[in-house]
Amino acid sequence: MKLNINDTFNKELPGDPNPENFPRQVVEACYSNVTSRIPSQPQIIHVSDEMLEAIGLTDEDKVSEEFLQVFSGKKVIQGTEPYAMCYGGHQFGHWAGQLGDGRAINLTELLVDNQRWALQLKGSGATPYSRTADGLAVLRSSVREHLCSEAMHHLGVPTTRSLSLMLTGDDVLRDVMYDGNPDYEKGAVVCRAAPSFIRFGNFQIFASRRDEKNLKLLTDYTIRHFFPHIDKGTKEGYIQFFEEVLDRTLEMVIHWQRVGFVHGVMNTDNLSILGLTIDYGPYGWLEGYDDNWTPNTTDSQHHRYSYAKQPGIALWNLAQLGSALVQLIGEAQPLQEILDGYKGKYQPKYLSMMRSKLGLQTGKPEDETLIDELEKLLQVIETDMTIFFRNLANIKTTSSDLTALIADAFYKPEELSDVVRKLWNDWLTKYRNRLQSEDRTDQERMQSMNAVNPKYVLRNYMAQLAIDKADNGDYSLIDSFYEMLKSPYNEQPEYEQWFAKRPEWARNKVGCSMLSCSS
Ligand code: AMP
Ligand code: MG
Repeated sequence: MKLNINDTFNKELPGDPNPENFPRQVVEACYSNVTSRIPSQPQIIHVSDEMLEAIGLTDEDKVSEEFLQVFSGKKVIQGTEPYAMCYGGHQFGHWAGQLGDGRAINLTELLVDNQRWALQLKGSGATPYSRTADGLAVLRSSVREHLCSEAMHHLGVPTTRSLSLMLTGDDVLRDVMYDGNPDYEKGAVVCRAAPSFIRFGNFQIFASRRDEKNLKLLTDYTIRHFFPHIDKGTKEGYIQFFEEVLDRTLEMVIHWQRVGFVHGVMNTDNLSILGLTIDYGPYGWLEGYDDNWTPNTTDSQHHRYSYAKQPGIALWNLAQLGSALVQLIGEAQPLQEILDGYKGKYQPKYLSMMRSKLGLQTGKPEDETLIDELEKLLQVIETDMTIFFRNLANIKTTSSDLTALIADAFYKPEELSDVVRKLWNDWLTKYRNRLQSEDRTDQERMQSMNAVNPKYVLRNYMAQLAIDKADNGDYSLIDSFYEMLKSPYNEQPEYEQWFAKRPEWARNKVGCSMLSCSS
């Protein structure tokens, strides 16, 4: 197995001189060298063939003993020094101090076909950043992270990727519902991949400690490697860097809103500096469209990270990053101006994204009202977001029985009162009339809508079915979902059974609608 190693993070940035691995505050360092915990009986569950190829490996490598050992944490890649990164973060709006890679170990970085890949094991043991936790991950959360990372990529959403999912052979104790009933679960390790795993929190930790020297080193490093067109070491460069991070974050959130993805834990330590979706924990997809919905049980009271709040929370997080960068720039004003521009950038992009979902090629002033009305209507009776938009594409400019076309999206069609039916009919009629002023054919419009409205997403209950099977040693559903979610916009009639509303049994089942942070 030959990897093209090009490790820069721990070559160019200062590390922790203390070689010991116990929980502690690590200062004046970007990372600590650590070795992963040796799994007792590693076993491959699934490998993303796309990521395998992307990092320059072959099918032969995939079945090698070395692959199993390296990506389960059993063996260190020759010539590398694995490390855990130091970062801090705001959790649920409050500064939490040092957090860091408590259960992630960066193996190394690669350069393959001009693309950089940092490889990181998640769940392979404690680090100086583990605080009171064990550094491990369980099968269920690892299945969710592995499948969803790859699915999001194919949905066209910027994201970290996942190379492999393995069992460690060791059991891990977890109290899923935080109700004093802990139980043993199978331990697992995922190998994540991204150009970089640097988060907002990596900058914040230095700013919080008034460590300007390392704040500057880290920012210059990030610009040099990931924003190479920006001037290094100048005030103007730092300002431009901040603006580009804002633009990328905004772009990512627009994609989340488009596909109905709710991250669930948008703490500043879970926001990538590259605008990638990172840290798949208690995430979920809008099934019945409810913009106040969050999948995270920890957030069920305040709904801080609900679907509708994601764009605003992204801005709040950017403001925290901005506060950290003020220490480099020496003044807040230019950053404040960039933050003030967020709304003005977001709105037109959101509008154009929604127009694309509705298949509107041209822009008319009345579109905003049409969209506002739709967003309200979708919440009058429980309506599946994915099915609604997918079926909406079937409308023809000559269609008459309009509500029938989207009726499959209603969870309780029997509750469709005459009043609500009329509201829907009115909206759909308005929409159909609006379509008549477009000059595309019904067929062309349908194709363009189907390219932005996915047919298949990884609903929580589906992931849970795959997890339950995997727990019994049957990985077939993981394989099927991985294949299906490679082409989420294609019809794929062989997978039609997954183009369906969440079944009623899953409505309140643990793991199927809401999730705790336990992972
Ligand atoms: P999260 O919000 O889940 O991304 O995690 C917040 C912080 O807790 C991060 O610093 C994680 O590395 C850390 N963490 C989460 N789970 C564990 C665990 N099982 N062991 C050690 N650290 C953990
Ligand atoms: Mg995290």
